Amino acid sequence: MVINEPARQVPLYGEYEVVVLGGGPAGVLAAASAARNGASVLLVERYGFLGGMGTAAGVSNFCGLHANIHGEIRQVVHGMTDDLLDRMRAMDGLNDPHLILGKIHAQAYDISAFKCAADGLVQDSGAQVLFHALATGLTRDDQGRVDALFLETKSGRCAVRAKIFIDCSGDADIAQWGGLPFEKGDALGHMLYPTLMFKVGNVDGVRAQEAWKTIPTLMDEAAASGEFTFPRKGAIVRPQKHDYEWRVNVTQLANADGSAADGTNAESLSAGELEGRRQIMNYLAFLRAKVPGFEQAYVLDIAPQLGIRETRRIVGEAVLTREHVLGCADFPDSIGVNGWPLEMHTAGDVKWVWPPIPESRGYNQLPFRMMVPRRGPGVATNVLVAGRCASMTHEGQSAARVSGSCFVMGEAAGAASAMALRDGISPGDISIPALQAQLTQQGAFLGGRD
Ligand SMILES: Cc1cc2nc3c(=O)[nH]c(=O)nc-3n(C[C@H](O)[C@H](O)[C@H](O)COP(=O)(O)OP(=O)(O)OC[C@H]3O[C@@H](n4cnc5c(N)ncnc54)[C@H](O)[C@@H]3O)c2cc1C
Repeated sequence: MVINEPARQVPLYGEYEVVVLGGGPAGVLAAASAARNGASVLLVERYGFLGGMGTAAGVSNFCGLHANIHGEIRQVVHGMTDDLLDRMRAMDGLNDPHLILGKIHAQAYDISAFKCAADGLVQDSGAQVLFHALATGLTRDDQGRVDALFLETKSGRCAVRAKIFIDCSGDADIAQWGGLPFEKGDALGHMLYPTLMFKVGNVDGVRAQEAWKTIPTLMDEAAASGEFTFPRKGAIVRPQKHDYEWRVNVTQLANADGSAADGTNAESLSAGELEGRRQIMNYLAFLRAKVPGFEQAYVLDIAPQLGIRETRRIVGEAVLTREHVLGCADFPDSIGVNGWPLEMHTAGDVKWVWPPIPESRGYNQLPFRMMVPRRGPGVATNVLVAGRCASMTHEGQSAARVSGSCFVMGEAAGAASAMALRDGISPGDISIPALQAQLTQQGAFLGGRD
């Protein structure tokens, strides 16, 4: 059954050269980079803060900033990301990098520092932000280009018009509404499983020591004795800046049929939030009962929303695959690099697959064309798609969805949009050498065989 909604006129909130949808890692960098390159920019975000999954889903740990290059771990994502990291460091909100699985570095951070540093980066770039604005649809012009986005806000419904749109929604919302080609999940529609993240406080850090090493065995023992059940193996339980506060990445949310909870389905999301909180309380009981140093721990924070790893991904002019990641692929239109391995959140487990270490250089390049929707009749040519919904296979996305790659894509999409505006062409038609020169000038590392 449907109800007809009466047609209505919608006020135009503003006209911009670039509208970026979504203020996650990709959107923050896209907006700041486009504005620094001279474009008038509006960044639209449904929440009242930036950071996307990195804040709203409680991630609090940057992956993909580093690569293991022939045995030596180095930071490989630079450019405007360095500006963001410097701002967080100045707030004392960024840890030194720590080793993951003996192979790569990740870097924990304070969520509030990420929010505030992202505010500063975007505001100082000259981009405008509209918070508490949920995009719900769009209109296209007579040439099929996206003309305006519709937003629902507390001051009512409005529209924003732009010459170029950058879809950083994580869910490829613009792509879906605009008829751009996209996929969801693997060949069978299976997506990476979501996790509701939480933090525990009041941990005795001295007694807890390197508990992340012993927790998997303690979980196996607790499960074998029948005392506790766990939704997945591969728990990631790590201290934040101070060892009395630990983040816990261990829940796993599925639908009734066992498939991954779907971040684009309201009922699936609702059930996931409820079940996630149930799993959290169960896991807290395990930590308190079985892990030295956690006896007096309490739930300090549950993330505002379920952490969604994967939903829709566009089909672009290039598609990043498992083979590209594991084979450390080069691309002539490189915009930066990904050094994170495949990290597949499958039913009940987390599976890691690495490029050869230390034999390989440990990173693949990211092609500009993975942000350009595959062209075809009726496909809008004024949209770029950056971040976890860019063009990747299910397995390729399990690697390049992490923050580092999303920063890289966002910065490149922003710079490319400003170049396209200057040249009066579609963003997919810009000069790649000119884009690469601009990104290099911004401090980005584009990788290469040497
Ligand atoms: C549980 C979990 C753990 C993770 N752990 C790590 C980790 O340790 N390290 C790491 O680097 N990465 C990790 N990741 C991955 C990483 O956080 C995400 O892949 C990354 O944040 C994706 O960035 P993005 O900008 O593409 O999208 P997102 O971060 O999803 O941001 C999208 C933004 O768009 C907004 N938005 C969406 N739709 C609309 C709309 N219609 N209108 C208005 N606004 C909208 C959202 O509110 C959000 O702010 C994890 C992810 C999850 C879910």
